[in-house]
Amino acid sequence: MKIAIVGAGIIGVTTAWELVSDGHEVSVFERRGAAAEEASFANAGVVAPGYVTPWAAPGMRAKVLRSLLSPHGAIKLRWPLSSRDLGWMSRWQKACKLETYLANRARMQRLAFYSRTRLHEVTEARELSYERSDGYLVLLRSKREKKLVQPGLEVLRAAGSVFKEVDADEARRIEPALNADTALAGAIHLPEDEVANCRQFALLLKWEAEALGAQFHFNCDIAPLSRAEPTSISLASGSPPLRFDAVVVCAGLASASLLRPLGLRIPLAPVYGHSISAPIRESLNAPRSAVMDERYKVAISRLGQRVRVAGSAEIGGSLGTMNLAAVQTLYKVLHDWFPGAATLQSGVQQWKGARPMLPDGPPVLGASGVPGVWLNLGHGSSGWALSCGSARVLADLVGGRDAGVDLEGLGIERLGQ
Ligand SMILES: Cc1cc2nc3c(=O)[nH]c(=O)nc-3n(C[C@H](O)[C@H](O)[C@H](O)COP(=O)(O)OP(=O)(O)OC[C@H]3O[C@@H](n4cnc5c(N)ncnc54)[C@H](O)[C@@H]3O)c2cc1C
Repeated sequence: MKIAIVGAGIIGVTTAWELVSDGHEVSVFERRGAAAEEASFANAGVVAPGYVTPWAAPGMRAKVLRSLLSPHGAIKLRWPLSSRDLGWMSRWQKACKLETYLANRARMQRLAFYSRTRLHEVTEARELSYERSDGYLVLLRSKREKKLVQPGLEVLRAAGSVFKEVDADEARRIEPALNADTALAGAIHLPEDEVANCRQFALLLKWEAEALGAQFHFNCDIAPLSRAEPTSISLASGSPPLRFDAVVVCAGLASASLLRPLGLRIPLAPVYGHSISAPIRESLNAPRSAVMDERYKVAISRLGQRVRVAGSAEIGGSLGTMNLAAVQTLYKVLHDWFPGAATLQSGVQQWKGARPMLPDGPPVLGASGVPGVWLNLGHGSSGWALSCGSARVLADLVGGRDAGVDLEGLGIERLGQ
């Protein structure tokens, strides 16, 4: 089939790879000058399927309120909120009901475990070499945090995650550079989870897809799809339509506006986050893999010769305006755990990205209901962890095959379309 993909973030690139591997003629259209320039650019890189859970969860409302009152709180609202953000928050609140949360969590985790397996298969098959490390350590600063995390451990058990509760000494053996002066009550160690450079992987897989014949067209801002010819692609600035047998929308946050003329209402909203990436000054003082500070919800990742610190969740605001308080929290948490690990005087990359979030958690995969138009979008805070599996699922569905994972609740019907 002749297939167009809109968007070359991690979701578009992995989708291109799977479709071209299946023998399709694939063209990818991307408005930026390179792949993975938006949400997939500088994320934390964590692949921890047991922790892939919806943010719409029971008790979240209280957590949000507490966070808003704390200077280093992970969640921030930027006023004024748009009507889109308010509508999204109202749907998000409804999805916090226990049964809805449990169903969405199961959907996301199934896909996440499947995705990790596919990530390893693709990496091995193509002998891809990118910055990555094994293991994930969730740091618990106090006895209270150790207690609060217990229901989460049940979730990990139920999901089949391999993990161990460890005391502070053991945590410091796993990550020897952890600052001895910062209180640590214990940690959760997940040896089978990992951290890896999402953007680097996307660029490598793009080359692999090109080697199989996929064509990438950059600086091509695609116009919203048209009801008259939904599988034709035109530039937003105006151009004759290019006709395809199928179009796959992988445009992250922009997917909603691309699909609106087809009568599809996708409730996507940006949940902004920040990261800083700095060159390692002394390897012995740097993390070996990834740690997550449970109190501040900040991840510190080892990516080759750099350390990346990522976190914060901001609703409202804009991509162009850094939230300085959120960035300060990243520096604080880095300093708390790995002082002296990184050179912070120069060469630090500060980044703000927009997680393309659906209010209830899971992405939307599969047929759109409009013939020839397919969806792979809305991966929120876990797009890297879900990418390889989502792409394989999409390719199987386009090819008329059963997917290798249960897809209940991942279709567009979930959104009431
Ligand atoms: C601070 C932070 C930390 C994160 N940490 C993690 C993590 O540890 N693990 C994890 O799994 N996930 C993490 N994420 C989430 C992850 O980064 C996203 O879920 C993922 O990158 C989304 O990928 P995507 O391809 O859907 O979107 P994008 O990467 O945004 O790609 C969409 C692409 O579509 C293009 N596009 C849009 N409209 C058009 C158009 N009209 N024409 C042509 N092209 C178009 C855009 O330019 C863009 O390149 C994090 C996110 C943030 C912000």
